[in-house]
Amino acid sequence: MSAAKFEQIGQTLRDNKRFAILSHVRPDGDALGSQLALGLSLKKLGKDVRIWNEDGMLDKYGFLSSSKLLTKPPAEPQDFDVAIALDTAIQNRLGNTVAAIKSAKVWINIDHHPSNPGYGDIVYIDPHAPATGQILFELMTNQKLPIDPAIAENLYAAISTDTGSFQYPNTTTRTFEIAAELVRAGVDVGRVSQLTYESYPRRRVELLRDLLGTMRFNANDRVASFSLSLATAKKLGVLPEDNEGLIDHLRAIRGVIVAVFFEELADGKVRVSMRSKSEKVNVCAICEKFGGGGHVLAAGARVKGTLDEVEQKVLEEVRNVVSRSGS
Ligand code: 5GP
Ligand code: MN
Repeated sequence: MSAAKFEQIGQTLRDNKRFAILSHVRPDGDALGSQLALGLSLKKLGKDVRIWNEDGMLDKYGFLSSSKLLTKPPAEPQDFDVAIALDTAIQNRLGNTVAAIKSAKVWINIDHHPSNPGYGDIVYIDPHAPATGQILFELMTNQKLPIDPAIAENLYAAISTDTGSFQYPNTTTRTFEIAAELVRAGVDVGRVSQLTYESYPRRRVELLRDLLGTMRFNANDRVASFSLSLATAKKLGVLPEDNEGLIDHLRAIRGVIVAVFFEELADGKVRVSMRSKSEKVNVCAICEKFGGGGHVLAAGARVKGTLDEVEQKVLEEVRNVVSRSGS
């Protein structure tokens, strides 16, 4: 199944000329690393490639090889042979990049979110892969697409960030084998790790200090949450990208099964980010009830309402699910 699908994708990549590579809004390391890796590989094959994200390249991932190739989409739409959505569970999370595609003969959808409904003409979804970067490595090696040190570094960053630095339970023997292959292909592990995990701006730690002040516990300390208001975000001058990973401080508490992060947005909604430490508590299912999605152990949603309203509604649902799970 996967070999035939890889062959079909490989054929489509070889047979066409003009490509757009897209991923989700508020991108993470897997989204940006995957976009750059596939884009660079196609460029090495002589293809004409655009790599677009609604948010453009984030400052904190600016160290990635050839990061400047990833830009915000242009206002004027363009024609393509193939548009490729990476790491994007639902089409509307491609944001304004879709409007920049005037036409595409084929849409390819490559992802690892179990909630992905399979939009597009050629679909490859492996919910067991810990990162879209891991699927791309398998595709590239299977189809003999070029992997140079720059491509390897982007794939490594994608996999490292989506596995919580090779710690989450979906990290498999295969993930370590792939990491070894990527290091063999030229990745400088110390460089990538330091630039990814030891180069935060000071305001991010100041944000953490504030968030810990709002920390609360529910369901006999099995649910921990904190929240960020617009006013605090403004006061500290934080960027959306600053809070990636802060929720891990809640997850890291012994006895906590579910961690929840609430972030007030400017559009009257609250971004809810959720993590679970037990397969018995499926946070994707909880987030789907609020119009979101993601993975069993990591999911999110954007919920209409004030910070207080959304906190109350969501925490009640989490409490119920945790209590029913017997965890
Ligand atoms: P994070 O909490 O890091 O923003 O997201 C965790 C996971 O949940 C990611 O895999 C992401 O794709 C998914 N996710 C986050 N927010 C949303 C959302 O609003 N809608 C959907 N469908 N998935 C989301
Ligand atoms: Mn991912």
